[in-house]
Amino acid sequence: MDTPRVRSPRPEALVRNSPFGIAVIDFDGTYQSVNDSYCRIYGFAPGALLGQNFLRVFAQQDQARVLGLHQHFLREGGSLGGLWNVLRHDGVELQVLSESIRLEAETGERQRLVYITDVTELQRTQQALQAREALLSDLTASIPGVVFRLEQSDGQPAQITWCSERLLELLGVRADLACQDIRHVLERIHPEDRAQQDQHLSRALQDGATWEQEFRIVTPDGRLKWVSVHASARRAQNTKVWTGMLTDISGRRRTEEVLRNSEETFRTLFETVPQGIVYHDRDGRVTSANPAALRILGLGFAQLVGRTRLDPLTPALREDGTPMPEEEQPARRTLATGAPVRDVVMGIRTNRGRLAWLRVSATPLFRHGQLSEVYVSFEDITRSLELSQELRRQASTDHLTGLANRRAFMERLLQEFDRARRHPETAAALMIVDLDHFKQINDTWGHSTGDTVLQQTTQHMRTHLRRLDLVARYGGEEFAILLPHTRLADAQALAERLREDIASHTHRFGDDRIHVTVSIGLTVLSPDDADADVALGRADAALYQAKDGGRNRVMYRLPAAGAPPPG
Ligand code: GH3
Ligand code: MG
Ligand code: MG
Repeated sequence: MDTPRVRSPRPEALVRNSPFGIAVIDFDGTYQSVNDSYCRIYGFAPGALLGQNFLRVFAQQDQARVLGLHQHFLREGGSLGGLWNVLRHDGVELQVLSESIRLEAETGERQRLVYITDVTELQRTQQALQAREALLSDLTASIPGVVFRLEQSDGQPAQITWCSERLLELLGVRADLACQDIRHVLERIHPEDRAQQDQHLSRALQDGATWEQEFRIVTPDGRLKWVSVHASARRAQNTKVWTGMLTDISGRRRTEEVLRNSEETFRTLFETVPQGIVYHDRDGRVTSANPAALRILGLGFAQLVGRTRLDPLTPALREDGTPMPEEEQPARRTLATGAPVRDVVMGIRTNRGRLAWLRVSATPLFRHGQLSEVYVSFEDITRSLELSQELRRQASTDHLTGLANRRAFMERLLQEFDRARRHPETAAALMIVDLDHFKQINDTWGHSTGDTVLQQTTQHMRTHLRRLDLVARYGGEEFAILLPHTRLADAQALAERLREDIASHTHRFGDDRIHVTVSIGLTVLSPDDADADVALGRADAALYQAKDGGRNRVMYRLPAAGAPPPG
């Protein structure tokens, strides 16, 4: 069986057809032989360079140096090659890479075999690439994050294929190590975020969606940081490629946490303070209310939030019980003026029908110099108001009989006297009622029996009086009665009925029967009186007369007609 024979090409043909430019140059620099590629590289027709001097492809200023190198190589040997700047026939600069071999001709003359390849394009591409690399690294250095590319081929684990140097600063992991093994990066992820991390990564890789995530990392020296990742995906054949950025967001996270904490504190306060807090927007609409506000007002959240007026809480009352117009209410005033309003006492009818007294303050809140909201806080002071009213009542009440005391009576008398002066046409009567021989009752039946008689006599007097009349315990067993809008004759008739009623009543204490009588001194208020005491003095004088006249009787004394005004 024949073995197949391979014909090897002849060496001359190899040289002629070589893509490399090949030439043989003698000591003087004359081309002894050139192939087609050599001529083509320099822009000459095949064979055109034969017999010419090789220095012609060099710039004038390089020629002497190049000839020196050429002849030194032929004499001494060594190596001659590398990158050369040469000129093409048309004057265009080329860069050629060359290698030289020393030959010895049959004549003994030394010659240089040189082969060259045109690397002009390659050089240009490489420079462009370098420029791009430089640009990229400048860019990534200026980006406040780590730029990365993550790739995953089907069925393979993900891999970081490119990563900017800032990774070291952010994670404490060198970029080249991260590219070698993604686990250097993965193990920096906070253990609690790792599971979530895996999910995110695989979901993002599956969906081809944008991968956006925030997670914690722990640097090798134990520092905790928050980072965010933002990457976009692209599929290249069997590989998914993620290009994106890792950013340190610890600062933002810290700010958010501080904010959240202060928000939580505020929320807790808002929810738990005993004061009611209600926010109104610029239009007076209630935008928010705390639980205390709802409790105090007896309203549900939905009943309060969104409404502009506080009805059915309106009409509100002023502290003196008169209606408070809406424009006088603190929230309205602050909305209208932009000024805070403090400690206004306001009565409102709560949803449960109870009259509640509130102490209300309103504070304007500004945004960008504009009134944006009004913050209204209030407390329920009903209890303390009732308490102080009770104290005031007690201070003006006689505790044995429950009647007004002398001080309270004098206050009313002064008011009535004032009115008598302003409206002389309206009459008012004044009487003093004194129990006759009361000392004897005490002496005979004891002081506590005397007390009971005083109380029962009080009841009698009350049954004869109208609501607008005032009876007061003026002294020990002495009472004063003020009868507004009452003329003398009517007062007299009343006094008589009172006297008779008391006299005819029998007080029973076991088997004991006690009778008491009263003497009454009567007068009318006069605008001509210098002061209220003058009228009291008249009533007293009339009483004295009644006592003097035998007791159990009514006497009156009139103001002196036409008495000159005081002063
Ligand atoms: P007259 O008819 O002149 O008014 O005689 P009188 O005894 O009522 O008058 P007098 O001013 O001499 O005495 C008043 C008495 O009233 C003396 C006092 O012990 C008694 N008294 C005053 N306050 C009270 C009280 O709160 N309880 C009792 N039980 N007695 C009182
Ligand atoms: Mg008496
Ligand atoms: Mg008396």
